[in-house]
Amino acid sequence: MEKQTELYRGKAKTVHTTENPDYLILEFRDDTSAFDGERIEQLARKGMVNNRFNHFIMERLAEAGIPTQMEKLLSDTECLVKKLDMIPVECVVRNRAAGSLVRRLGVAEGAELTPPTFELFLKNDALHDPMVNESHAIAFGWANAEQLAEMKRLTFAVNDVLKAMFDDAGMILVDYKLEFGVFKGQVVLGDEFSPDGCRLWDKETLTKLDKDRFRQGLGGVVEAYEEVAQRLGLELPPR
Ligand code: ADP
Ligand code: UDP
Repeated sequence: MEKQTELYRGKAKTVHTTENPDYLILEFRDDTSAFDGERIEQLARKGMVNNRFNHFIMERLAEAGIPTQMEKLLSDTECLVKKLDMIPVECVVRNRAAGSLVRRLGVAEGAELTPPTFELFLKNDALHDPMVNESHAIAFGWANAEQLAEMKRLTFAVNDVLKAMFDDAGMILVDYKLEFGVFKGQVVLGDEFSPDGCRLWDKETLTKLDKDRFRQGLGGVVEAYEEVAQRLGLELPPR
């Protein structure tokens, strides 16, 4: 399937229409942003790594029975996906405390959260993605109660699959963000799962292997993403 017009240029991906109105092409760029787009840098190979990583993860999730957008990998930086009617609310599950939870509640980074927490954030850069709850989502028409229940169920189902997968590969899945959309009436996992939207720590050393390396200026960002891919058994083209 060929790219037609550019539908939307986001901070890290460009969305293209195709000849089939039910499908889109997601193009992963090297742009890396933090702090709601206030800081943007180009990191070589990041688009390729995240595209291939996302395809790999979505395939594993589909095998586990989770409905995903993924149709197929088209190239190093592009994949074909179902065109979802995106729900503008991000779902975040946390197995350990980090990031905004630590800033908001003053808890220790790394504290184990049992059971894992579930949070909703409105996708709105201008407002810095504020935390919202289910009643806001329903009152403002972002999603209905049934869709919210399904988003929560699927977000925890993803945790069951990925926590074990990363653990087997020597990593802690600290937290992650998912976006869902609706395709022909069904709630489906969209957007991406990559080290740009989750936190992964080495199990032994607690070394950060995710976008916090960029946010905190630690360097070796794409190298860390490639290390994660390699540990999962995903082969990437050589440097
Ligand atoms: P942002 O919008 O946060 O800058 P991206 O650069 O990742 O993010 O842009 C990708 C955009 O495409 C996001 O707005 C996301 O909600 C949307 N999107 C992701 N997957 C799909 C899909 N399967 N169908 C429709 N839109 C999608
Ligand atoms: N996250 C994301 N996009 C966002 C906000 C958060 O991918 O717009 C991810 C982030 O990478 C982390 C998790 O969601 O894995 C929880 O993020 P948090 O609320 O701690 O916010 P942060 O401090 O990372 O901005």
